[in-house]
Amino acid sequence: MEKIKESCECGAVSFEISNPRKKITFCHCSQCRKSSGHYWAATNAKFEDVTFLSDDTLTWYTSSDWAKRGFCSTCGSSLLYRMNDVEGIGIAAGSLEDPTGLKPGKHIFVADKGDYYEIADDIPQIDKL
Ligand SMILES: [Zn+2]
Ligand SMILES: [Zn+2]
Repeated sequence: MEKIKESCECGAVSFEISNPRKKITFCHCSQCRKSSGHYWAATNAKFEDVTFLSDDTLTWYTSSDWAKRGFCSTCGSSLLYRMNDVEGIGIAAGSLEDPTGLKPGKHIFVADKGDYYEIADDIPQIDKL
């Protein structure tokens, strides 16, 4: 089974993901931009396919009525995005350990993107989701 490892910047939170989605989604919504510092790049997996190796400092922030975001309370790394009552979980691409084998998939919420950058690649762009 194919596994990828993820860890936060300080290393206190780490986990392995089995069978992650092969394509990265880039989300340009204002919540993702604020919590990640730019736009959010994430793969996705079933929550049951995430095995935590260490998660003492993993903290969940309820970012909306429908989802929460997981981050490390020591170093602040944004790591996870989980919608309520959905089996999939979004996993930050920037915190994966190479080689990931993943490829860019699509941009979402491009109508909400920041005015300080252009999207210069040729993968699909979707206004909302
Ligand atoms: Zn950390
Ligand atoms: Zn977003």
